[in-house]
Amino acid sequence: MNKREVLDKHREYLFSCVANYYDEPLVVDHAKGSYVYDLDGNEYLDFFGGIVTISVGHCNDKVTGAIQQQTSRLQHISTLYPTEPHVRLAEKLAAMTPGRLQKSFFTNSGSEANETAVLLAQIHTKCQDVFALRHGYSGRSHLAMSLTGHASWRLAPTAVPGIHHIPNAYCYRCPFGLTYPSCDLKCAKDLEAAIQTVTSGKIAAFLAEPIQGIGGFITPPSEYFKEIAAIVRKYGGLLISDEVQTGWGRTGKMFGIEQWDIEPDIMTFAKGMANGAPIGATIASAEVADSMKGLTISTFGGNPVTATAALATIQVIEEENLVENARLMGQRLRAGLDRLKEKYPVIGDVRGMGLMQGLELVEENKKPSPESVRRLFELTKTQRLLIGKGGLMANVIRITPPLNVTKDQIDEALKKLDRSFAQMGL
Ligand code: PMP
Repeated sequence: MNKREVLDKHREYLFSCVANYYDEPLVVDHAKGSYVYDLDGNEYLDFFGGIVTISVGHCNDKVTGAIQQQTSRLQHISTLYPTEPHVRLAEKLAAMTPGRLQKSFFTNSGSEANETAVLLAQIHTKCQDVFALRHGYSGRSHLAMSLTGHASWRLAPTAVPGIHHIPNAYCYRCPFGLTYPSCDLKCAKDLEAAIQTVTSGKIAAFLAEPIQGIGGFITPPSEYFKEIAAIVRKYGGLLISDEVQTGWGRTGKMFGIEQWDIEPDIMTFAKGMANGAPIGATIASAEVADSMKGLTISTFGGNPVTATAALATIQVIEEENLVENARLMGQRLRAGLDRLKEKYPVIGDVRGMGLMQGLELVEENKKPSPESVRRLFELTKTQRLLIGKGGLMANVIRITPPLNVTKDQIDEALKKLDRSFAQMGL
């Protein structure tokens, strides 16, 4: 098919909510490493990685090789029969994750991983109330959508009772109009006031992303999660860390929550864990995990091929020291973005950690500027650079190259961004 045919069929046969980036969508044909190629053979430097999912480069030989071998050995059998890839991956997760986290449940997506986490917390604590953050994103099932704190991603009326949201730690636009550190972390302390006023005084869980992804890489102050964890535990709840975007080295540590020196009670994973193979995982301590009894199944959960893809991805991350590379390349990227902020007033804030960096674009008086993001997207496309967007007002650029990105690729991306901002003339 040529580009026109793909676009026509996309319009005709897919739900119209399956939205694409760019005025004229980019039809992707193939990809390798940090580069993506369109149907006409044009090469793009990919600094979004299929929405924070390509951890070790597109079509990584080690991951693809492992997938190919496993596909011809055993592709599917379901969890009714134990398999080696399934238990090996579960054992690996237990070894890598912090604290007493030990037992996993595998699914196909981040939405399901969060569903599983909340269900588990409710069963374990025998409570229903769950707290999440405004500007958070948890997925597209009814429960995950109800946990999500963005009107634009909540397509139907709230379906799930017992879910509450508190203001997030968004220092660039403090929801309380305060300034860090004199704010004394009012946003975290507000959780206690909320529990005391809108619940019976006991909660099942608090779920949050260590750095908010779709929210626009909103990064809390370093003591924020400690404060939150203390309150959650005081009221009998479990702390769920959604590592769907921050996991597997993205922030310069293996897991985002480790940046905040906290041991969560439950962690959820998806996206970058298997470099693009569809996977979700929920891990908890044996005591918490074993409180889920009775019949529940995910047909494809722990599928031998996706489990193998995850094992191979994790092996590449470990063997090639990619967490450290993410930290170092993240520093280089951040320094370059900070320089761009000095040069272009449209960049109001630079934030994030490691290879998870965001630029919030604004007009006068910090007014969100989604139009600037739209224009920057078209300009960077012409420069053959792929970036992502996010933020409640769609005014944040998200930059997340593969963890094995090189210095030269970082410098190349910074040059392309610089040229694009210069052309925008703001
Ligand atoms: N949690 C976070 C933090 C996410 O970013 C996403 C997806 N963007 C999800 C959960 C849901 O994952 P999925 O799209 O795989 O269901």
